[in-house]
Amino acid sequence: MHCEVGVAQAQSTWKTCRNCKQQYDPAENHVKACRFHTAHYGGETKRKFESVYKGGTMDTPGAGEISHYWHCCGSPDPFDLGCEASPHLSYDE
Ligand SMILES: [Zn+2]
Ligand SMILES: [Zn+2]
Repeated sequence: MHCEVGVAQAQSTWKTCRNCKQQYDPAENHVKACRFHTAHYGGETKRKFESVYKGGTMDTPGAGEISHYWHCCGSPDPFDLGCEASPHLSYDE
């Protein structure tokens, strides 16, 4: 019961970020509070990945296999918070 009251009070001051669509506390906002990716997460062949991110040689074993990654930074982790950072930006700023 005590917890629910605390949460309600905290959320009343929160805003929604138009970059990441998450709720944030303006008092906790800072220049790297908002993490996001600039491109989509999706599947691509290993050959393409290496040619883009590692200057690949095109003769890597298994280079035709599909791997999934963020196309902006090459991170293979779908839960990666983001490769770019900025302050959260509310809809009324
Ligand atoms: Zn944000
Ligand atoms: Zn990224």
